[in-house]
Order: sequence, then C-alpha cells, then structure tokens
Amino acid sequence: MIEIQLWWLIILPVFFGLGWLAARIDIKHVLAETRSLPAQYFQGLNHLLNGDTNRAVEVYVDIAKLHAETSELQFTLGHLFRRRGELERAIRMHQRLLDRKDLSDNHRQQATLELAIDFMKAGLYDRAEDLLHQLADTNFARQARRELLAIYQQEHEWKKAIELAQQLRDESHGYQHEIAHFHCELAAQAMLHARHEEVSRELEAALQANRQCARARVMLGEHALAQQQHEQAITEWGLIEKQDVLYLALVARHLLAAFDAVGKTAEGERYLQGLLQQHPDLDVLDVLYERILARSGAEAVSAFVRERLREHPTMPGLRKVLEAYLLQAPSEQQPDLEIIVRLIHEENRENTVYYCGECGFRTRQYFWHCPACNAWESYPPVRGQRRLGH
Ligand SMILES: [Zn+2]
Repeated sequence: MIEIQLWWLIILPVFFGLGWLAARIDIKHVLAETRSLPAQYFQGLNHLLNGDTNRAVEVYVDIAKLHAETSELQFTLGHLFRRRGELERAIRMHQRLLDRKDLSDNHRQQATLELAIDFMKAGLYDRAEDLLHQLADTNFARQARRELLAIYQQEHEWKKAIELAQQLRDESHGYQHEIAHFHCELAAQAMLHARHEEVSRELEAALQANRQCARARVMLGEHALAQQQHEQAITEWGLIEKQDVLYLALVARHLLAAFDAVGKTAEGERYLQGLLQQHPDLDVLDVLYERILARSGAEAVSAFVRERLREHPTMPGLRKVLEAYLLQAPSEQQPDLEIIVRLIHEENRENTVYYCGECGFRTRQYFWHCPACNAWESYPPVRGQRRLGH
C-alpha cells in the first residue's frame, strides 16, 4: 500500500507538470497568433506602400480568413480589390459584409456606400443609385449625395444634378462653378432641338450661378449667331474679354464671320490683330493667316506673319512664317521647305493640343468637361498650355 502511495507521489507532480507544460504551449501559441496579426498588417501595409498591391492582397486575404469577424479587414480588402479593378471581388466582399447579422449600423451603412461605389465603377448606375438613396438619413448622407452627383453627371441628368449640387452647397464648396456648367449642358441640349427660349433661360441661369462662366458667354454668342443675330453675337463675345480674354481663341473664327456678316470685315480683322498683339498665346494666328491670304495674297500674309514673329518669336509663329515662304518659294526649294515645316510641326506637337490641368489628358478638340477625369473647365483654352492661370 505504502509503495503504491509513494508511486502516486511521484506520478502526480509529473501529471501536473505535463498539464502546466500543455498550458504553456497553448498560451505560447495564442500569443504567437496575436502577435502575428500586427506583423502581417505591417507586412501588408509595406507592400501597399511599395505599390505592390498583388502581395498586399495575398497577405490581407490570409488575415481575413483567420479573422473573419474583423470587418475593418473586409473593408480594406474590398477597397483594394476595387482599386485593382477587380470589381466582382469587391462587390462580393461588400455583399458578404452586408449579409452579416452582427454588423453595427455604422459598418452596415459604410458597406452600403462601398457597394454603391463598386456598382458605379462597374457602370451599374441604377443599382448604385438605389443604395445611395438608402443612405439619405445616415451619417454617410453627404458622401452618398456626392456620389449621386457623380452618377447624375455620368448619365447627363443635369436637372437632378443642379438640385443635388444646391443641397450640397456649404462654406467650403459652393458648387457655383459646376452648377453653371450643368445649366450650360441643359442649354446645349435645348440648342440641339432649337428650343431658343430655353437656351437663353439656361445660359442666364448659368451666369447667375457664376458670373465668370466663360462657357455661358461663348454659348450666348453661338446662340445669337445660330439665329442670325450677328451684332448680338459680337456683343456677347466681346464680353468674354472682361471675363477671361483667352477664351476668345475658341470663337475667333466665328467672331470674324459675324463681323463679315454685318459688313464690318476690316473692324473684325483689326480687333483680332489687336488681341494677338496683347496676347500672343491666343490661338488666332491661323484665322488671320487664312483671312489675309484669301483677301490679299501670299506676299501680304508673309509680311504679316514675319512681323508677328519679330514681335513674339514663338515656334508656332516660325512655322507660319515658313508656311508663308513655302507659298512663294521657287519649285526647286519647295520639297526642302516642306520637310522643314513638317519637322517643326512634329517637334512641336505638344503645342498643338489642349491639356487637362487636372489629369494631363491631351486632346486636339477642346472640352469643357474632361472625358478622362470629369473635371469641369480644366482645359486652358490655349494649345500647349498645361495649367489654368496665365
Ligand atoms: Zn482631366
């Protein structure tokens, strides 16, 4: 008996020891796991900072599997998927979040907003719109309205866009600039259908929203011209000079035509020449070149562009001078001159396009609304100029 009891005395501490050891192992394991979370977070973050979203996604997918209850992680992943253009995965991630019963109200609203943005990126505007309307009385209402405004612009729903922009106005952003352009868009639609009164009304509203809206002035002149009101067109376009003279470049050709129509050709030419002297950047040299060539011939146009080049030596000016030389050059010199003109043109290609001041998109055609980044009036009206402000 005594022997057995002694045996127990030996065996019991061993059992306790084993238990203690087992507990130690468990604790170590748990500690390792909890410690590994921040480490992985930082690893993922590191990949993100290095621009390696592929590896960042791998790391975060791993963490998300281990910690399915952490909604922040799912948000991060959804965001990453969307940024990488993997919209289906982003949509699935956000839908899965919304399916969860334990989600807080705040996270539910956030997931709704994120899902709406996914749908927008995928071009599913109807579904995005429905979700955004659901956020009307939540903490995300303002953000939802801003996204809705982007949808209305994409879908050319200008009336709804005006209404929403007016609701969004606050001290930090008055939306006057955008509202004026929305009215101009409505005017452009009305112009297509020859609804003249509506055109005038919308353009007046544009100027009321933003007195400096050069586009409204440009369009008021175009509208007058379309109705054969040439004097009126000249007056409207003349007012652009008070707003921002550079925008006159966009209408120079039509302006000269309006002067012609009222029998004031010489006055029109003098007006444009005066502008060119004050603002050599203005894109009116071509218009005057064509006019002088047609009216007075090669010698006159050559003298004119040489004089401009002496006043303001610029590459476009030099090209015009060589073009004028080419008109009069003996036939044996023409092939060489043609090559020189072409080379100058190619070397200065960047001076022949318009640039978006926001995203740098380049285009031969002038846009009031950037097709690449959707900014309004972000193109300086001078070819080759990269930023607004002169
Ligand atoms: Zn742009």
